[in-house]
Amino acid sequence: MKELTIAVLAVQGAFREHEDMLRRLGCTPHEIRERADWDACPHWDGLILPGGESTVQGKLLHELHLFEPIRQAIRDGLPVFATCAGLILLAEHLADDETVHLGTLPVTVRRNAYGRQLGSFSQNIDCGPVKDYPAIFIRAPYIEQVSAKVTPLAAIDNHIVAARYQNQIGLAFHPELTDDTRIHEAFLDLAKKE
Ligand code: GLN
Repeated sequence: MKELTIAVLAVQGAFREHEDMLRRLGCTPHEIRERADWDACPHWDGLILPGGESTVQGKLLHELHLFEPIRQAIRDGLPVFATCAGLILLAEHLADDETVHLGTLPVTVRRNAYGRQLGSFSQNIDCGPVKDYPAIFIRAPYIEQVSAKVTPLAAIDNHIVAARYQNQIGLAFHPELTDDTRIHEAFLDLAKKE
């Protein structure tokens, strides 16, 4: 079988951990550091947007001329897997904040929803079909509102922390920082199908 071409946005944040996870699953990651990296492949099977600092990532997407091609590819159906800051990049709205980055996921996301300093914790959660998953939250956002077409996948105290909309999966936590590969496997399954 042809190997999947999975792009990992590698301009800032926890991209290496996602790459390690992909390698563990037998898939070679392709780092996107500049426009030429994106243009090198005529058809990506999937894209990972890692955690980090969404404001910095959003700015770099524009400066590196990656913003338009990535947004268009997601709109055209590219499977995308976004964690934490990546979820913030995808959100159509941010709570109490006029900023919109890619804006392809019809949800409202609250940044630093658990506080800035003490907002890091881990908790086992059910995420769609993946049960009892050890989720790590670091200055995490949560999803405050979803449009009717969005499927919530996980929640803590009535706040949605994972959701899917068509080809887009957004998580408030960091599956790349655990030893549990199940959520990455689920994304690769989606990338295979689309
Ligand atoms: N708080 C960060 C932001 O707003 C996201 C945190 C993370 O990715 N771990 O960009």
